[in-house]
Amino acid sequence: MDNKGRVTLPAQLRQQLDLYPGAEIEFLVKEGGEWYLRRADSQPSCRYCGLQVDLVTIGRDTLCRRCAEKYYRALAQKLGLGEVGASGNLNNKKGKLR
Ligand SMILES: [Zn+2]
Repeated sequence: MDNKGRVTLPAQLRQQLDLYPGAEIEFLVKEGGEWYLRRADSQPSCRYCGLQVDLVTIGRDTLCRRCAEKYYRALAQKLGLGEVGASGNLNNKKGKLR
């Protein structure tokens, strides 16, 4: 990385990933601090684990169902709503996440 924060992707990688000047690249930080780049115009994927199937959109986030449930469980705990999903509650309401 240079002192302006720019990163050069090796030509071989650009070719392999079909990246061309002007391609939109997205920088994503996963839970736990792991991060990665992806094409912004690529298939939508879960912002936490990168899964590309069984996705739900919550606000501006795209999550897979598994992470969405985890996210809601954490949120419920934070709000003091107790263990949502611990008894399978959330599983029975999957449709609501759509
Ligand atoms: Zn996920």
